[in-house]
Amino acid sequence: MLWSGWGDPAKARELPPKVRKLLGDLLGVSDPENPPASFGEVQLPISALPAPVMTRLSTLVGDEHVRCDEDARIRHTRGKSTPDLLRMRAGDGADAPDAVVLPGSHSEILDLLKLCAEHRVAVVPFGGGTSVVGGLVASRTNYSGVIALDLARLNRVLSVDKVSMIAEFEPGLRAPQAEQILARHDLTLGHFPQSFEYATLGGFAAARSSGQASAGYGRFDDMVVGMTVATPRGTLELGRAPKSAAGPDLRQIILGSEGAFGVITALQLRVRTAPRAKVYEGWRFDSFTAGQTAMRRIAQEGPLPTVLRLSDETESMIGLSRPAELGTLADAGCSMITGFEGSEDDVAHRREAVAALLSELGGVYRGTEPGERWDEGRYSAPYLRDSLLAAGATVETLETAGFWADLPRLYDAVRLALRATLDDPLVMCHVSHVYATGASLYFTVVAAQDEDPLAQWERAKAAVNKAIVLTGGTISHHHGVGRDHRDAYANEIGELGVQIMRAIKGRLDPYGILNPGVLIP
Ligand SMILES: Cc1cc2nc3c(=O)[nH]c(=O)nc-3n(C[C@H](O)[C@H](O)[C@H](O)COP(=O)(O)OP(=O)(O)OC[C@H]3O[C@@H](n4cnc5c(N)ncnc54)[C@H](O)[C@@H]3O)c2cc1C
Repeated sequence: MLWSGWGDPAKARELPPKVRKLLGDLLGVSDPENPPASFGEVQLPISALPAPVMTRLSTLVGDEHVRCDEDARIRHTRGKSTPDLLRMRAGDGADAPDAVVLPGSHSEILDLLKLCAEHRVAVVPFGGGTSVVGGLVASRTNYSGVIALDLARLNRVLSVDKVSMIAEFEPGLRAPQAEQILARHDLTLGHFPQSFEYATLGGFAAARSSGQASAGYGRFDDMVVGMTVATPRGTLELGRAPKSAAGPDLRQIILGSEGAFGVITALQLRVRTAPRAKVYEGWRFDSFTAGQTAMRRIAQEGPLPTVLRLSDETESMIGLSRPAELGTLADAGCSMITGFEGSEDDVAHRREAVAALLSELGGVYRGTEPGERWDEGRYSAPYLRDSLLAAGATVETLETAGFWADLPRLYDAVRLALRATLDDPLVMCHVSHVYATGASLYFTVVAAQDEDPLAQWERAKAAVNKAIVLTGGTISHHHGVGRDHRDAYANEIGELGVQIMRAIKGRLDPYGILNPGVLIP
């Protein structure tokens, strides 16, 4: 993973000159004044872990699994939001952990948490490091040091049960490896977020992730059947039947807990038979409103496609995955992608029913080409973000969700907030992750960087958070809370909700060593 950007450096994408010119002409984007810092120029705080802690950590997990070198520290500094990348590009390594520790088992993690509680060392569970909400930055105040607890060594599949259709995994397994292993059993998880290449199963559960095929396979939290969690107070084993009336479901306390309550050390996940057939196709609607009505009707009446997303007019026109076409598509209308995965019969049946409804509601079929193009480019947008940042554009994504009746207001409010705080930004949106009662809105914004792009984005983000809270949307549908949404989250759950969260934290993590500053208001 590129330390100051996204993904495999070999896949980095240059912006075509035409696009650079368009960015200048349309948005006033010009080359940034300062070149980005090199790896060697990143300023790190001196590694400050007390010596006895270092010695005991080495005894606990083995010398070679405690790293204080610059490479490890820089690569575990923050996550991958645009502010995170801007800070790294500016050479700011102030949030680097003092050490990166790679435990090899649940019991090592339990011992490590005890040790850190004793010495008041903050612990940041680290999966793929793809958080975009500041979920990997621990507060240092009143702590004797910070360690990143990298779960990469916990990367095994523990069991595959094809009778119950449940597989058990360790949390540090990355999504592509999990899919490769499941494919050998003719199975899939069906979880394909845009961060698929790097994110881990533990991170998906801890941040309540949702993938691009959520209409068909569900959100990640829906897939979690059971979990083992290491907390400073001991082990929690959760989930023992498909459904239960035995009190409130304690799995829900861990799902979305973002490392603040404990470290997920094993997950039992529902799996599906690997699809025999896959078809992705495109539709056109005259307006975003018409497309949303069609989506709602599909979500409420079914059957649902596996993938269902609708771009607004601007996003449809820009065609995010093909920069060479930028600005060339006049009146693209609003594009919808429908994807179907399953058995041949199931795909044929759902395709036919969905096509009938979409045609009835004003959709115009565009064939499979747009769907296949979307599928090809589905993981490429984050690479484009790096090129845009380098070209002098601020580019970031944000998301929310609301009930169908409120979506138009939410859409307007977020766009207004972005336009009010950024100079002539390009704002694109798509609806994805549909439910019978509502859906998620996912925005991408591009604007010319001003002299302080970080402060510029913080102003815009604060305005958007406020707009979402006021319009009644949730502060996150799938990115989570982290530090960036903590205040808005407090507003969302209210004073009593905040007290409950603090009480749980106080019980599971009485010394407050787990991810301090993240999630808990
Ligand atoms: C380019 C890009 C695209 C993205 N696209 C999507 C998308 O389509 N859908 C989506 O849902 N999200 C998306 N995200 C956000 C991110 O990938 C998800 O939040 C993902 O779930 C994080 O997984 P991770 O393994 O990288 O976790 P990390 O980023 O390492 O950690 C996330 C949080 O969980 C905690 N944590 C991690 N592992 C554990 C564990 N085992 N136990 C306890 N706590 C833990 C961390 O402390 C942190 O607070 C995207 C991010 C990027 C950068």
